[in-house]
Amino acid sequence: MKQFFLTARLGLSFARELCFPLGCALCGMPLLKPYEARRGLCSACASLFELDLDEQRCERCGKPLISETKICIPCRTMAEAPAFDRAFALYPYTGKWRQLLGAYKFGSHRPLAQFFAEKLCRAADAFLDNSNDWEWTPVPARAGKVKEKGWDQIETIAHVLKNAHHMPVRQTLKRLQSDSQKELGREKRLTNLKGRIVSLAPASRNVILFDDVYTTGSTLNVCAGVLKAAGAERVYGLCLFYGQ
Ligand SMILES: [Zn+2]
Ligand SMILES: [Zn+2]
Repeated sequence: MKQFFLTARLGLSFARELCFPLGCALCGMPLLKPYEARRGLCSACASLFELDLDEQRCERCGKPLISETKICIPCRTMAEAPAFDRAFALYPYTGKWRQLLGAYKFGSHRPLAQFFAEKLCRAADAFLDNSNDWEWTPVPARAGKVKEKGWDQIETIAHVLKNAHHMPVRQTLKRLQSDSQKELGREKRLTNLKGRIVSLAPASRNVILFDDVYTTGSTLNVCAGVLKAAGAERVYGLCLFYGQ
């Protein structure tokens, strides 16, 4: 039933774009071509978000390397290695990239879920051997957050990954009631989340754990730990944006 409502809602936002256009999520120009309306972005703006998959990134957290080689300094100085094997985030959480996420989360540009799902698939394809053998699991949203916003942005992307890209997606994790992570420092984030993320079922062997923004990696770390305790052998964290 939930799947039906998600499909219906995405269909409605597509139909609304045709009848009462919101326009491009970035420049506001009318989206005249069906594939532009489907993704919520005009072709010119979409071309600003080409992925640079050759950029030198940290082999652990996936953030760009500045003068380091292979592993960034914050990862090297971490007390213990994170539970995920590797993480990667597509875009910096600044400027036009941040604007794009804002348009999606707060501006009702829901067709952007299509655009984000396409990019996530592309990154998974580029980085993982046999990416089809990996199961996708979204980081679960705080229950209160979904109520506040009225919809779950990551779940909508999960829905597109499953239905438009035919990816094996499963909501393996559940978040029990916890305080918002946003205002907390790294240590507090970890303790705040520990024990609040639970696995609903045994995990698959290879899991792509995906989320919107990667900051300290605490959320991915806790989720990956739960997935590994539930039987996952490899967990690859994939996020849309990385922040500081
Ligand atoms: Zn545009
Ligand atoms: Zn790193």
